[in-house]
Amino acid sequence: MMPAEQRVYSYSAVLMGSPILLKLFEDDQHAAAAVFRLIKQQENLLTVNRAQSQLMAVNHAAGLHPVVVSQSVFDLIKQAKAVSLLADSCFNLAIGPLVKRWKIGFSGNTVPSASEIQSLLPLTRPEHVILDPQTCSVFLQQPGMEIDLGAIAKGYIADRVRDELHRLGINHALINLGGNVLTVGAPLHGATSWAIGLKRPFGETDATIGVIDVVAKSVVTSGVYERYFEIDGKIYHHILDPKTGYPLDNEILSVTVISDDSIDGDIYTTLLYGMGVEKALNYLATIPHIEAIFVTKHRQIILSSQRQFKFTLQDDSYQQL
Ligand code: ADP
Ligand code: MG
Repeated sequence: MMPAEQRVYSYSAVLMGSPILLKLFEDDQHAAAAVFRLIKQQENLLTVNRAQSQLMAVNHAAGLHPVVVSQSVFDLIKQAKAVSLLADSCFNLAIGPLVKRWKIGFSGNTVPSASEIQSLLPLTRPEHVILDPQTCSVFLQQPGMEIDLGAIAKGYIADRVRDELHRLGINHALINLGGNVLTVGAPLHGATSWAIGLKRPFGETDATIGVIDVVAKSVVTSGVYERYFEIDGKIYHHILDPKTGYPLDNEILSVTVISDDSIDGDIYTTLLYGMGVEKALNYLATIPHIEAIFVTKHRQIILSSQRQFKFTLQDDSYQQL
């Protein structure tokens, strides 16, 4: 048995429909409770499925009137809009009506008709999200518009958890928000870095193809196998192409982003996914603080650069490039 001071304490809960895991190096129920409370609070503000949600109030007032939101929700929407407006961006905060129609990950999936998709696309224009910093309000210009922050909420909340842990004087911890992993400092004992598994696409829950070693970094993975349905041998997954209204389709099965902040991980997984491997690697060469690992349909693992992490391949049915 390990001496008490060598132990790792794990706390878990299911929030935001995802398993949440917190690892600490001392038994601190108070800190764990504070972290889970914070996650719940933030979820209530940002989800589109809750009555207390500020986002839902904005969506309900689409085409009618602006809605005042808290400064932090305003700032997050502002950032999401800016990313949505980047040239050729595959990220779109106003994708809501299409996400709702596809219902990917929920039962009763059908492929929408082409005409249905065409009728929803005009309701997903990010430039129709009107922000007023003076009143801290958000107005969706067209009735039927809906903001969806599902792609970045976990990253944003993971960063808030890190802030809270620092506030509580905790400098060594790990939080896993349903696949968004954020490490605070290094492990206090044992290994000198955190070992994060890279998931095997379409594998068993815990199946991994390799290990990512990091210290004080966020590791976010977005994969087509996370939520999808299959009809006639074709897979329809949960990351939609804002231009076509259909799931993005290219050689990528998953993108993992290693960065300081988890919100960046969330934003860049979507952007890079949309670019495809070749364009994404060229783009990453221009932003050294963001690094990525791509897993492709050809069983290849492609790394951008390895300044902030170390990757060890463990599955020889995949080829590392
Ligand atoms: P997860 O971590 O849940 O696997 P992601 O972080 O990749 O998922 O985000 C997927 C979610 O983002 C979708 O379920 C949907 O709510 C939303 N979404 C889908 N397509 C887009 C898009 N092109 N831009 C922004 N958000 C999207
Ligand atoms: Mg994401």
